[in-house]
Amino acid sequence: MKKPEWLDVRVNNPQRETIEKMSKFLGDHRLHTVCQSAHCPNIAECFGKGTATFMIMGNICTRNCRFCAVEKGKPLPLDEEEPKRVAEAARRLNLRHVVVTCVTRDDLEDGGAEHFAKTISELKKIPGVTVEVLVSDFQGKDESIQTVVMAKPEIINHNVETVPRLYPEVRPMANYERSLYLLKRVKELDPSIYTKSGIIVGLGESEEEVIDVMKDLRKINCDIITIGQYLSPSRQHLEVKEYVAPEQFEKYRKVGYELGFKYVASAPLVRSSYNAEGIINSFEN
Ligand code: SF4
Ligand code: SF4
Repeated sequence: MKKPEWLDVRVNNPQRETIEKMSKFLGDHRLHTVCQSAHCPNIAECFGKGTATFMIMGNICTRNCRFCAVEKGKPLPLDEEEPKRVAEAARRLNLRHVVVTCVTRDDLEDGGAEHFAKTISELKKIPGVTVEVLVSDFQGKDESIQTVVMAKPEIINHNVETVPRLYPEVRPMANYERSLYLLKRVKELDPSIYTKSGIIVGLGESEEEVIDVMKDLRKINCDIITIGQYLSPSRQHLEVKEYVAPEQFEKYRKVGYELGFKYVASAPLVRSSYNAEGIINSFEN
């Protein structure tokens, strides 16, 4: 299927240089970003603004989501110094809002919750900084959820990624109800933390199914939703079933606000961490 022109992202030479410069900076700090690992289409824009989403606990994931470009397999042991290096990089980049995600670490007893908490606490040493974490489902372990909540990030994000009917095909090792549970528990434990979730569309879901997911998220008081177009990273990944028209994204945006979300980011190139700083700033103003 030919990509429509609204998804055509061109990277010019100055942008290429910026991407290389940022990649070198991250490499020097031995840090990974989801921007690079997931082949995000917004990398030129975000790196150009001097922002990135750190991916902690390595770049090898224990799950096998079939839409995701992140490498799968047996991860390396945790690097105890990583939380400090993330904070150091955030300082040097002068980030005001830091987004941290991870690969899923089902091999670790706590799913990496403690490592997340340490990273949040290192970041919180930077005056005025706000922190958003995009976490795995921790296999629904309540203790792990509590560990992250107690570290008090401003936003906890966990993507449901797709509609429940497509889970076996798209996220075979995940569980829709378990993902909702995590977001629900965060709000129960600390209602002051904003919760956020996201889906990618174009995987064969219907409009009704997308709206049902939004309703499910609102039932558990989820504050923010992101909706973007799925782009297949390679022939080994799921193919795109549909390029959803910009007008349909606009419809989802309107429906999202009608359902009561505090913020809805819905457009073809929206990704989970796209314009994350702009979203939190809109709450503070
Ligand atoms: Fe990175 Fe998120 Fe920007 Fe993509 S949208 S480049 S993942 S910060
Ligand atoms: Fe990719 Fe996350 Fe799925 Fe791992 S759990 S394969 S990083 S989407």
